[in-house]
Amino acid sequence: MPLRCPTCGAGALRIDAAIELGSDARSDEVALQVVSCSTCGLEAVAVYEESRRGALDDESVNHAAFPSDAEALAEVRRVIRSCRRARNADCACAGHKRARAIVRTQTEPAGIDWAAPMPIAFVRR
Ligand SMILES: [Zn+2]
Ligand SMILES: [Zn+2]
Repeated sequence: MPLRCPTCGAGALRIDAAIELGSDARSDEVALQVVSCSTCGLEAVAVYEESRRGALDDESVNHAAFPSDAEALAEVRRVIRSCRRARNADCACAGHKRARAIVRTQTEPAGIDWAAPMPIAFVRR
């Protein structure tokens, strides 16, 4: 399903890179991502969180991109690429640890505006 770009509204947002982090205190599925839009050129770090702890029909998803500068984007891409098993949430390598710390603290790397989340939604037809 296409994703809607939070900046220009086009259904042209792609997930360029992602590392699966499994569950944490709040969510059942967490991923750190880099997303980009082929229409407006947006590039941003994104966090995907999915919780299935409520009732079955109460699945909640929190997917947001955060304004990111080039240095922060490069840093997060490097963290994701450093693991050859980025889809394996059980991996405990340095890259996975770093990605978990980034998502948990949401204070670094500098260059990501964590206070300004841009919600990402599926394009509904
Ligand atoms: Zn866009
Ligand atoms: Zn890993």
